[in-house]
Amino acid sequence: MKINRSLRVEIAAVALVLATALTACGGGDNPSALDNAKEGKLTVGIKFDQPGLGLRNTDGSYRGFDVEVAKYVAGKLGVKPDAITFKETPSAQRETMIENGQVDFIVATYSINDKRKEKVDFAGPYYVAGQDLLVRADNTDITGPDSLAGKKVCSVKGSTPAQNIEKNYPQAQLQTYDTYSLCIEAMRGGAIDAVTTDNVILAGYAAQSPGTFKLVNKTFTTEKYGIGLKKGDSELRGKVNDAIQAMIEDGSWRAAQEKNFAGTGFAVPAPPTIERN
Ligand code: GLU
Repeated sequence: MKINRSLRVEIAAVALVLATALTACGGGDNPSALDNAKEGKLTVGIKFDQPGLGLRNTDGSYRGFDVEVAKYVAGKLGVKPDAITFKETPSAQRETMIENGQVDFIVATYSINDKRKEKVDFAGPYYVAGQDLLVRADNTDITGPDSLAGKKVCSVKGSTPAQNIEKNYPQAQLQTYDTYSLCIEAMRGGAIDAVTTDNVILAGYAAQSPGTFKLVNKTFTTEKYGIGLKKGDSELRGKVNDAIQAMIEDGSWRAAQEKNFAGTGFAVPAPPTIERN
């Protein structure tokens, strides 16, 4: 069959359109974090209401140790700070938001554990915290998790501290909200007796309202903070681990804590060992 020139051009054009559409769909997958970084942009999940860690300022900028870790890692992936879109990733939504590709990675006081590892991968740890309790400054009867029987204790849905209270301290009256700042406001108003989550998060709230709250200061778990990533992207995980290592070695890791944890009484600990296996 003889195909004229214009028809041949048309067939080629249709083939090109189909090929492009197929690549774009890629079987329904979003572009990978490294693809996005190559384009010079990244979407990073953080918390918006945790002073010292991940906080949205009134002018729409962000500050905190997690924010600085996110910016450092993005920089090592070739992305400038102003090309990062920060997205709020509440505790209960983190795995889903990574799986759906709504974020390229998450730096949000996100503890590494086996259950979460079924759905996502972690780089790090880049910090080690521990579960503690925050109470009103005049409280004298809550001295640790064993004194929570009958007390109204607030934590966040989908967080490891909430799961720990539910499982191991069932005499406590656990209330779960979407964010820790809601727990803090409830305790300020007297509706809650204690807020529980990681010590470093609670210390940030205490520093924000001097004389109002106090940290019980008796940690009862180990919370290793990892950077949450799409499961199976070992190239990304290796690069993010390299970035955390570089941040520790060049002094930025220490400086970011000194700046963001000032006023909490938290000293900079020895850096954690990154888990590469
Ligand atoms: N690190 C704990 C967790 O990942 C508590 C802090 C949080 O909810 O972000 O669940």
